[in-house]
Amino acid sequence: MKLIRNPWKLQQRLEKERARGKTVGFVPTMGALHEGHLSLVRAAHRENDITVVSIFVNPTQFVVNEDYAKYPRVLSDDIKKLRTVKADYLFCPSVAAMYPEGYATFVDVSPRLANVLCGKFRPGHFRGVATVVAKLLNITGSCRLYLGAKDFQQATVISRFVHDLNLPTHVRVMPTVREKGGLAMSSRNRYLSPGERQRAVAISRVLFKFKKDLLRGKRGRLAGLKARALRELKKNVDRIQYFEVVEPGTLALLKKRQKNMTVLTACFVGKTRLIDNVIIRT
Ligand code: AMP
Repeated sequence: MKLIRNPWKLQQRLEKERARGKTVGFVPTMGALHEGHLSLVRAAHRENDITVVSIFVNPTQFVVNEDYAKYPRVLSDDIKKLRTVKADYLFCPSVAAMYPEGYATFVDVSPRLANVLCGKFRPGHFRGVATVVAKLLNITGSCRLYLGAKDFQQATVISRFVHDLNLPTHVRVMPTVREKGGLAMSSRNRYLSPGERQRAVAISRVLFKFKKDLLRGKRGRLAGLKARALRELKKNVDRIQYFEVVEPGTLALLKKRQKNMTVLTACFVGKTRLIDNVIIRT
């Protein structure tokens, strides 16, 4: 695996690979890699000739008072893990290389997608995400892009701007990888104490119960199911930021059931903010 820090160098390397007829699979991450990330790298490896992973803790997607400074940075562990899944290139740019002095350009996503759900509580977050991913995609060039369904809103925002900006990117959204008890894997799970980790399991439990009840029931309105889910969630987590049922693609809030729905939540367990979702197709 080749470690590259310079954006221009990676761009040139991948242009050469494509000129030789190779296809490129790209997995952007912020590091502190776990099985969720590695599942994306495996998929990229299966479906492409060349696999590129980036590790960059992107300052523009963190809101004031969030965990940017203390976000886990464990590059040597990450490198070991990436070797086991046969990544070809690891791109680790510095903040100065990505946002040099005088940097002035951002990708502005419509508030319909960027200011709802997580965006309501993390103003500017999706602008930062869209900007860094657009930059990474311009550096990588034509590729398949691998994203996790765990960050459903992020995958929706990225799929939208890839389409809107005519980027030569094929987006692949892969299933959420979970721990044995159902907790969605996340780099932030390492902040949880053993007791908090146990309570955090309620998040996926409640989401899966919601899905099961919804698939069983026939009634159109979602309010009753939602109230029950919130009651159960409140018993276990310290704060619920949102628990919503939306239309995939537009993220429009739903009050009544329809064919395709995604149920998303963001909760605090202790000081750790966790997100999860389930996708429902009836
Ligand atoms: P992050 O390092 O948190 O920015 O995540 C990098 C990529 O890994 C994103 O596309 C995430 O959606 C994806 N990812 C994170 N956790 C999981 C998981 N548990 N299962 C599948 N993909 C994940």
